[in-house]
Amino acid sequence: MREDLPIIEDARRPARREKNAGEEIRKSGAPPAGGKPGRRRGKPGPGGFHRTLFRRKRLLLPFLFLAAVLFFLLPRWFRGCGAAETEDARGAYRFSPRESSALPDREEEGESGVPSPRPIPAEEQDPLLLVNRDHPLPADYVPETAALRYGMASSRLCLDDLQDMMDDCRAAGLRPLICSSYRSYEKQEELYRNKIKFYQDRGELPSEAIRLASRVVAPPGESEHQTGLAFDIVDEGYQLLDEKQERTKVSLWLHENAVKYGFIVRYPPEKTSVTGIIYEPWHYRYVGKEIAEEISSSGLTLEEYLKSGREE
Ligand SMILES: [Zn+2]
Repeated sequence: MREDLPIIEDARRPARREKNAGEEIRKSGAPPAGGKPGRRRGKPGPGGFHRTLFRRKRLLLPFLFLAAVLFFLLPRWFRGCGAAETEDARGAYRFSPRESSALPDREEEGESGVPSPRPIPAEEQDPLLLVNRDHPLPADYVPETAALRYGMASSRLCLDDLQDMMDDCRAAGLRPLICSSYRSYEKQEELYRNKIKFYQDRGELPSEAIRLASRVVAPPGESEHQTGLAFDIVDEGYQLLDEKQERTKVSLWLHENAVKYGFIVRYPPEKTSVTGIIYEPWHYRYVGKEIAEEISSSGLTLEEYLKSGREE
């Protein structure tokens, strides 16, 4: 059963990288004509060639180090579900109800000594709150949350329905896994900054790095995850956040049933021009049971649904 988990696959990868790195040196250091490529490396060869090889050998260690760093960081940057979560996330999904409602980092005073904002009680939170590029949330928008397993958190407003959905999905013999949930403004800012830095480190100009980063990570305030009502849910057997996720058993079940629990697939494939977000078959947004049915049967996005309501 473990064979199909990414963590196992990942463990094999460095070995392959090492081999490739060695091959790279052999190819570039060797004279092109007539010889046995596999044995050249050990031979002394002509003086110039030998020196070049030595210099290249010295480069091998930093190269491997860089490769290792990238190997561990890239999956975290590109996927919602990093390798660490993958390892922790085996076993049943369960809430830990006794944990505090507000996340600890929001309860403390900030550096300036200004107390962090008080979380919005579930009864006062609007389940239809629209968050996107044109409707960003202020930094002090903090919902009342409940802690989930693996460092995840949910708004209290949708906690029971989320729990029911996950329970029923598991009861159907499936293995759903929440790999992204409530994200504070500060957390979003951190992700966004890291992504910009990633592109700058690759040699992009600051303005271009910002443009590229914005395509992958929502700028702070512009992510629905700040409401605590949005969740990225994947199949434990396939945790990559790409379009293939829609064909997993968990996604098939959720796409059919999430609406009964008040969740919609928020970024459908044919509506990217409306939402401004690529198709995300893993991203579910809570809007409440009644509205979820309405939105789902109408084929509208949350943007369109809210707009049609205002026009009536
Ligand atoms: Zn998401």
